[in-house]
Amino acid sequence: MKGKTVLVIEDDEMNMKLVRTLLRLGDFDVLEATNAERGIALAREHRPDLVLMDLQLPGMDGLCATRIIKGDAALTDLPIVALTAFAMQGDTEKALDAGCVGYLTKPIDTRSFLEVISCFIKSDPPEVETQV
Ligand code: MN
Repeated sequence: MKGKTVLVIEDDEMNMKLVRTLLRLGDFDVLEATNAERGIALAREHRPDLVLMDLQLPGMDGLCATRIIKGDAALTDLPIVALTAFAMQGDTEKALDAGCVGYLTKPIDTRSFLEVISCFIKSDPPEVETQV
């Protein structure tokens, strides 16, 4: 989506590389952070159209970072989609409780990724959880 920016907060190098590649294929501008603090700073600075938030980050975790972003009056409308490890079943509920609009489970499904992401960027994000 031209003119749309996605901020990816992810500490895993391989997953960051995959997500970056997919987003660029989808003509998104990509911002990257490998920890929560840097991610929050980039969100405040650039006001992206979407955040992809890994929940397991070094130091401050993704749930805490999500609450901070959602608690920022200037960023409260910014949709955040959690990236959760498939094995961490309880994480999905926690992510939605923290204010995420949805979640993607890792490993990322490359075939549906862009479609799902684009869906969350529309002005009316779906209320339902999207699992791919
Ligand atoms: Mn991680």
